[in-house]
Amino acid sequence: MKRIFRVTSTSLYLYFVAVVFTHAQPVALVIHDGAGNIEKQYFPDTIAQQYRQKLEEALLAGYDILQRGGTSMDAIHAAIVLMEDSPLFNAGKGAVFTHAGTNEMDAALMDGATLKAGAVAGVKHIKNPISAARAVMDHSPHVMLTGKGAEEFAQQRGILLVDSSYFYTEKSYRHWKKANMDGRREEGIYLGRNNQYKFGTVGAVALDIHGNIAAGTSTGGMTNKRYGRVGDSPIIGAGTYANNSTCGISATGHGEYFIRSVVAYDISALMEYKGLDIQSAADRVIKQKLKERGGEGGVIGLDKQGNVMFSFNTKGMFRAYIKEDQIPRVFIYE
Ligand code: ASP
Repeated sequence: MKRIFRVTSTSLYLYFVAVVFTHAQPVALVIHDGAGNIEKQYFPDTIAQQYRQKLEEALLAGYDILQRGGTSMDAIHAAIVLMEDSPLFNAGKGAVFTHAGTNEMDAALMDGATLKAGAVAGVKHIKNPISAARAVMDHSPHVMLTGKGAEEFAQQRGILLVDSSYFYTEKSYRHWKKANMDGRREEGIYLGRNNQYKFGTVGAVALDIHGNIAAGTSTGGMTNKRYGRVGDSPIIGAGTYANNSTCGISATGHGEYFIRSVVAYDISALMEYKGLDIQSAADRVIKQKLKERGGEGGVIGLDKQGNVMFSFNTKGMFRAYIKEDQIPRVFIYE
């Protein structure tokens, strides 16, 4: 009798372990720092390595939060702040120059559980625009604040403002000078040889242990942009979107096309109304609809099961993800 009881309690224990493991809520984090015309033979390995390292660092910063039971919002925020602080990316430090020689940044994030969102656009002094976007979501009745008003609000919320010289990087400046001299319109950043260019926007999407999805995007926009131009990144439904019942999306590419195609929401809508899985929905929008309209770029995303999605119609996209196995996986080329 005693023996039977022991066997039964062991099996019960094993049963519970199995239940916990098979029903454990997946957690995942996926990030990007831009799509573009990037080919291995023209892109120096040393530069690629710098990008890989920073992406890994950002992944681990966000994943650490998820692993400790933190929220997807905290995870994407941490990953994006880290990328904004790096001069490698076109967001925060390293933002591209406008036609007027300034740096004007846009950022947004969205909470898939509540469908609350926050965004800032055209800000010139906020060190971490994504933090300001989060403050708009958490501490104002609004979704998007722009320019001076956004900066005043950020300052009131104790968010760090810096002198505009903080955003200067030699790379962005040189690129802007050249674009300006050649009289070129808005464009991505040129890197490597043979006109290798990329859109250097950064973004992150996470799924946490509570089953909540959050997405965020931060950018300096496009080099040589004029007249207070705002791209897709801070536009909810275009460059950024999250909804627990479908997916979270962050985009990078030629913003005007992404706005007109309402890219991020279109992917979510294809999942919601047509029952498409996240990869098919994204490929339909990026590789068909957007491409046919002449729009270049890509998206990253996650669904509520933690399925990771990348889709781009350019030659490459800097992207990375991490899941429960805790191995950061970084990709650049197709
Ligand atoms: N989508 C951004 C914009 O148009 C640019 C980028 O992805 O780098 O502002």
